[in-house]
Amino acid sequence: MTAADATGRGGAGRIVVVGASLAGLRAAEALRDEGFTGELILIGEEPHEPYDRPPLSKAVLSGWLTTDHTTLPRVRDIGARWLLGTAATGLDVPGRQVVLADGRRVGYDRLLIATGTRARPWPERAGGELDGVHLLRTRDDADRLRAALTAGPSRVLVIGAGFTGGEVASGCRELGHEVTVTQRSRAPLASALGGVIGRAAAGWHRDAGVDLRLNTTVDALEGDAHGRLRRARLSDGTTVDAEVALVATGALANTEWLADSGLAADPRGVACDGACRALAADGTPAGDIFVAGDIARWPHPLYPGQLLRLDHWDNAIAQARTAAHNMTRPAHDHRVHRPLPAFWSNQFGINLKSVGLPTVADQVMVTQGSLDQRRFVAAYGLQGRLVAAVAVDSPRVLDGYAALIEAKAPFPPVLNASDGPAHLAPVDAAFPRHHTPDSAAVAAPPSPISGPVPATHP
Ligand SMILES: Cc1cc2nc3c(=O)[nH]c(=O)nc-3n(C[C@H](O)[C@H](O)[C@H](O)COP(=O)(O)OP(=O)(O)OC[C@H]3O[C@@H](n4cnc5c(N)ncnc54)[C@H](O)[C@@H]3O)c2cc1C
Repeated sequence: MTAADATGRGGAGRIVVVGASLAGLRAAEALRDEGFTGELILIGEEPHEPYDRPPLSKAVLSGWLTTDHTTLPRVRDIGARWLLGTAATGLDVPGRQVVLADGRRVGYDRLLIATGTRARPWPERAGGELDGVHLLRTRDDADRLRAALTAGPSRVLVIGAGFTGGEVASGCRELGHEVTVTQRSRAPLASALGGVIGRAAAGWHRDAGVDLRLNTTVDALEGDAHGRLRRARLSDGTTVDAEVALVATGALANTEWLADSGLAADPRGVACDGACRALAADGTPAGDIFVAGDIARWPHPLYPGQLLRLDHWDNAIAQARTAAHNMTRPAHDHRVHRPLPAFWSNQFGINLKSVGLPTVADQVMVTQGSLDQRRFVAAYGLQGRLVAAVAVDSPRVLDGYAALIEAKAPFPPVLNASDGPAHLAPVDAAFPRHHTPDSAAVAAPPSPISGPVPATHP
């Protein structure tokens, strides 16, 4: 264990980062940029150097990229000690120590929690352990899925039509596989983007030849005598024969190691304030412990009354930088983390980009382009205010919408766009009741410790 940071903030002492992926690496780089010259230790459960996850369900799945080419580029030398292949299993806050799986204890003066999320496993153990049943979160997952696809399955079953499910279904069709997708709600992406884009996405799936089963869940995954997946029993009484299944039913925050820490941590994530400072269970800042990336739940000034958790690449980087700044500054010099949520996905030859927070909307309308042309922008409103916009194959216009959302512009927005519809026609946003987004924004109640734990099945 090290002595406490004698300088208060800034250059000295030891900073430990738990979670050596996108947020952890970018935070470490930003710490050096901010002038931190002390000791830096990165602890990561995976044996790999930090790598990029978005390609795993896109270029890697399609075979354009191998996982060893997903390593994240280093922006600068961080002069860190790396403890890879080593999980943190506990946190002793009064003693300022991280406990590792091998029993070692690593002292810190300041700590960054960046342990992200993992794919929600198949709920029934025997089905989940069948050979051929896959999850997709890590590069090892991607290698296994890719190998299974290369073996030439007669059909791939994708359980869940959120972003990951849609991208994998799309990639599998590109590879020529027969694909069945099951979706609990009445449209793909409906949990994250609502009914209008959901209905459009159903068209993209079907036009690509996907056997799309809506309002349908998988009751059981069944195998043969050798433990290999053979079929799935669906809630509508039918069966689907498949040798490969991807379970894409949302994410769980990696918070188990914080169970006895006294922090406001649960399966939804770790609650922090706008300055990325971790909160204790009583809602007060825990002191010298910060949070960034997919695991963080924090209050966004544009969307009050809730804590956001975003499974968004852009947010992981921005929050890592804010946390690094604040870790090296006294409280009066702290920045507030408040970038507009932004997300992208590529599936079925379509580029989809989102700004703002669609999930809070009560209305949606197409403001540019048309659904038929598969090139449009949908604007989302909440009680007469613009809160989000999603562009389908028209990413460049989104900056204008982002500025309007930041300015709390009215909904419907006044755009005067030459490709706008003759009549503005807002409709119900049509999010499934009790919707729980996959790889998107999860808005949760403001209390860091109470309230239901949202499931993330899309
Ligand atoms: C298949 C896929 C496709 C995606 N596509 C997109 C996309 O198109 N657009 C987009 O915006 N976002 C996308 N994302 C999301 C994006 O990758 C994440 O937002 C980003 O990876 C978050 O980074 P992070 O560092 O916060 O968390 P993670 O990347 O999850 O990293 C957390 C790290 O902490 C480690 N860890 C966990 N527990 C412990 C522990 N106890 N001790 C030590 N280490 C631990 C984990 O092993 C992991 O390496 C995608 C994600 C996936 C999985």
